[in-house]
Amino acid sequence: MQKKLGMLSIDMHVHTSGVSSCAKQTVEETIACKIKEGYDGMVLTNHCQSWYYAPSRVGHEKYIRSVLEEYARAVEYGKRKNFRVYLGLEVTLFNPFYADWLLYGVTEEFLENSPPLYMLSQKELFEFCEKYGVLLVQAHPFRPVPYVERVYGVGEKEYLHGIEINCSEKDTIHKDRVVAIARENGLLITAGTDYHGKPERPFVVGGAYIPENVRTSEELAGYLKGNKDLSLFFGEEEIFVRNFS
Ligand SMILES: [Zn+2]
Ligand SMILES: [Zn+2]
Repeated sequence: MQKKLGMLSIDMHVHTSGVSSCAKQTVEETIACKIKEGYDGMVLTNHCQSWYYAPSRVGHEKYIRSVLEEYARAVEYGKRKNFRVYLGLEVTLFNPFYADWLLYGVTEEFLENSPPLYMLSQKELFEFCEKYGVLLVQAHPFRPVPYVERVYGVGEKEYLHGIEINCSEKDTIHKDRVVAIARENGLLITAGTDYHGKPERPFVVGGAYIPENVRTSEELAGYLKGNKDLSLFFGEEEIFVRNFS
């Protein structure tokens, strides 16, 4: 991507192995790869899904602790490498089945007061997010749902803030469709790679430009919400999307 004065290039959708067991790299390995790809920062959006809570494994409190520890570790390493890390989450709901929801503006307080988020309906998740100023963005809305192999598309539009242009090779092709739906429904648009540190998941180096003075997760949510236009990048291509919300 091109470097822009006063702006940071951010991957808004990243998983690391300390929390997301499907991810192949630690936070340190992930940050090293992200720097090599040219990014200045990332939003850590580790999974919050039912199978991360299997009885033999962890309860909610322990899970939340692991999310916060992973984030602290990433921030710490990021500081040494001059790389920004923001706290987010990716919640997978049962209904609609296996739909994925990115949360931006996540704080320690939000997580500590949260019920097991994957148990909620889309409406309940949205209402809980609203209470804390957290933005709810549907991830890769046109990706076929695992196991059932069909596309559900965008969920209940009155209960979400935005939709994602996902930069995985199979999702980026839906870019124009995502923009059209955001325009029709008054939604935000974000972009990220759904990074798992796996070569078998090819992606376009994409994401969003945000100002350098956006330092915390809350400020990131505030910027996404309050700004009229957001500048996204996909490889060398830069596009401006209106904030339709
Ligand atoms: Zn995953
Ligand atoms: Zn993801």
